[in-house]
Amino acid sequence: MKIVRVETFLVPPRWLFCRIETDEGLVGWGEPVVEGRAEVVRAAVEVLAEQLIGQDPLRIQDHWQVLTKGGFYRGGPVLSSAVAGLDHALWDIAGKAYGAPVHALLGGAVRDTVRVYAWIGGDEPARLTEQVTAQIEAGFTAVKMNGAGRTDPIPSAAATAAAVERVAAVREVLGPDRDVAVDFHGRFTPAGARRVLHELAPLHPLFVEEPLLPELGHLLAPLAAATSVPLATGERLYGRAEFLPVLSAGIAVAQPDLSHAGGITEVVRIAALAETFGAQLAPHCPLGPISLAASLQVAFCTPNFLIQEQSLGIHYNKEADLLSYLVDTEPFRFVDGHAHRTTLPGLGIDVDEAAVRAADRSGHAWRNPVWRHADGSFAEW
Ligand SMILES: [Mg+2]
Repeated sequence: MKIVRVETFLVPPRWLFCRIETDEGLVGWGEPVVEGRAEVVRAAVEVLAEQLIGQDPLRIQDHWQVLTKGGFYRGGPVLSSAVAGLDHALWDIAGKAYGAPVHALLGGAVRDTVRVYAWIGGDEPARLTEQVTAQIEAGFTAVKMNGAGRTDPIPSAAATAAAVERVAAVREVLGPDRDVAVDFHGRFTPAGARRVLHELAPLHPLFVEEPLLPELGHLLAPLAAATSVPLATGERLYGRAEFLPVLSAGIAVAQPDLSHAGGITEVVRIAALAETFGAQLAPHCPLGPISLAASLQVAFCTPNFLIQEQSLGIHYNKEADLLSYLVDTEPFRFVDGHAHRTTLPGLGIDVDEAAVRAADRSGHAWRNPVWRHADGSFAEW
């Protein structure tokens, strides 16, 4: 079997898909994307695809070596995300070739259901009580919210109190048996994060995500040592070498994104590395259906898996949503807040190719918002 074609599709709301076709008619799908930079990743996929044409798709480990290292310069969001999407598609083809789901090829299932969480509140957290109530009614047992919107470098007494009151209001609706995770999004300075973490601790968040920007990773260890709140990070880390220092710093939850951190091949390794630190895996996935399918395949075969993010109804999904490009939406029908294992081959989803091709004709130009402080200076989003 040989790879004969690699295509990319820029589809709303903000995603990029790739499709690898073989001379035997088997097709695999992947989702190589950096949110807000999809066209840049598309160009990277097109260059990397030169290495795959004419090759046997089943030699995934070797392709991963060539795609990540064969250009001499390596890593970073664009290249690692391009490799990730191609890696999804290669595993999809492998599963279809062997007649098995990817998790079976990776050693078999260790669980039959995967707990997923839902987003509430948007970029500037609002309408939280109403939204958490709706997610509980939809069966979810865990939600995630932003800790703050636009925020000052060191939050004032009022801003600190508001951040804590928002989480307290959500906890009140959830009760003690459900979970809330809080995403700091790297918006607080280390001093601000320390102050807010201290006050959130009595509310027992499942974890606090990106308490610091990735470039401040050298300050994670003292922060982790100073709080009882489990810390999570990883959506802006691109391989196991970048997870080693944050795991050493004492994070509790590793959050590689299947579309950014080198795909299934690398995230399985990151999970194994996390296990040696007693840390759990909670893949980042505010993205599309292929990224989620890849995440679930890893979740089904990873012992130290915690919970899975998914984007159904997330504030970014305006023109299209998680289910828009699937022939059959059953794999993402969450029951009591859990995805259920299927035995479908490959990634376990049936991508609606006609819908994808039609959506690519209009494409998208999604960009991250650029925020400013009141004085006009740049603010972290
Ligand atoms: Mg996040």
